[in-house]
Amino acid sequence: QSQELSQVRIDYHAALQALQEHGTRMVCTGKMHTDRVCRFDYLCYSTEAEEFIFFHSNASVMLPNLGPRRFQPALLDFSSVEDHNTQYFNFLELPAAALKFMPKPVFVPDVALILNRFNPDNLMHVFHDDLLPIFYTMSQYSDLDEEARLVFMEGWSEGPNFELYRLLSSKQPLLKEQLRNFGKLLCFTKSYVGLSKMTTWYQYGFVQPQGPKANILVSGNEIRQFAAFLAEKLNVTAPERPPEDEYIVVFSRSLNRLILNEAELILALAQEFQMRVLTVSLEEQSLADIIRAISRASMLVSMHGAQLVTSLFLPRGAAVVELFPYAVNPEHYAPYRTLTSLPGMDLQYVAWRNTVEENSVAFPERAWEQGGIAHLDNEEQERILKSKEVPRHLCCRNPEWLFRIYQDTTVDIASLLDALRQGLSSRPGPKRARPSSTIHPGRVREPKCQTSVQATNEAKLTVSWQIPWNLKYLKVREVKYEVWIQEQGENTYMPYILPHQNYTFSENIKPFTTYLVWVRCIFNKTLLGPFADVLTCRT
Ligand code: UDP
Repeated sequence: QSQELSQVRIDYHAALQALQEHGTRMVCTGKMHTDRVCRFDYLCYSTEAEEFIFFHSNASVMLPNLGPRRFQPALLDFSSVEDHNTQYFNFLELPAAALKFMPKPVFVPDVALILNRFNPDNLMHVFHDDLLPIFYTMSQYSDLDEEARLVFMEGWSEGPNFELYRLLSSKQPLLKEQLRNFGKLLCFTKSYVGLSKMTTWYQYGFVQPQGPKANILVSGNEIRQFAAFLAEKLNVTAPERPPEDEYIVVFSRSLNRLILNEAELILALAQEFQMRVLTVSLEEQSLADIIRAISRASMLVSMHGAQLVTSLFLPRGAAVVELFPYAVNPEHYAPYRTLTSLPGMDLQYVAWRNTVEENSVAFPERAWEQGGIAHLDNEEQERILKSKEVPRHLCCRNPEWLFRIYQDTTVDIASLLDALRQGLSSRPGPKRARPSSTIHPGRVREPKCQTSVQATNEAKLTVSWQIPWNLKYLKVREVKYEVWIQEQGENTYMPYILPHQNYTFSENIKPFTTYLVWVRCIFNKTLLGPFADVLTCRT
């Protein structure tokens, strides 16, 4: 390991001198600890104290300089999970002069991205909290390139999905426990700390019950570009399969949350859709093989669970079918539904829920983290056993939730097929049609109004405008215009959708009145443009 670090040669004495003279320099983006990523020169880490260290000198820079607010609660989130109190980053401060009394620093020459993985044992967390945010944080900073060094400080060992993290850079990622092998005081020549949260779509329920994030900023396009990057690194991109070779993937869990009649389910799916069905599981296939299978599938069927994050490798037009155990409401647990419904993901989604208690096998005697409830008092056990639906709850140790979600299920085939017939809008399968456009209209140009008074109680208001500038370069299926008319001083307005570039309003238009008029263009019913500057029109 120590050999590896010294592969990129740096001039040790120059580096030491720079650290002593300039100290640490930090410049961050972001207004709050929850949206901050910081770039450092000479950020150091004491493996003895297990603390990052900022060395002050006359030339050191600390932006933002928060004073004691740096501890309220932290400089930044160390993982992509928002404001989690086990995931805060901060550093200790020392004068650069203290270096004289400290162990000789060992310099890390690579540009490093330093972060906490949130839960590297769980595939959903691996993709959503770590891989996607790392990928897009790296693309935000040009020196975080192929050669960047990822440094994972959460303190876990590699975990079962480490091969995925290794795909993000050509250098082996470093774990916290390995840092002490290099020395007592490590100094990162150039580093970034923290992760962009731009690509996350789900909040796990630490402060309010879990659900889609309030302000999702990622679209299917970015998710698919990331998926294509990983697929290429995993060597799973293969020639297009012939269109008649359609198949369904059943992603099974072999340890818990089982489908008890998997064979029957497979037969039923094959018959209903006239496609072959293959099963995969993390216990039996490599992730690369699973991703290869999924990236050409027409449908992915699985019990609710982290393995469903692999939906992001499905081709456009495919369907995700998520099965929920008895007493679990699909509406309340939607990380995969939210993923499939990101704009431009172009995936269909159907949830099915077991409503027949007899088709469910529960495990009250298991350990609590696998859904056991034997440790609860009898009254509470009774209540849970009688309940027909887990009430909304916070993460992560709600025993009723764990009890229900770790049940095994015999899938009622008739009710599942019903759900599929109702829920699928078209035959699922890789779409040949081009993905729908996401190009928004520009502002309408030269908006104008003309008014006339017909009688003491009758007036007309004509509004006209020119097409948005970008429209002449586009093929748009449907172009419409929206006009809002507000009487000055009133707090309501009348909205109109219009097909042409002018219109004369006479209903509800009063003489000797001032109207405020907004106009915007809409492509294909949903792509809204900006409003042009408001028109003030006096009748
Ligand atoms: N897992 C699996 N097979 C099983 C049970 C779990 O592959 O029989 C995987 C699962 O996909 C996830 C990890 O093990 O990546 C942890 O599963 P857990 O049940 O804790 O989490 P969940 O799937 O409910 O998010």
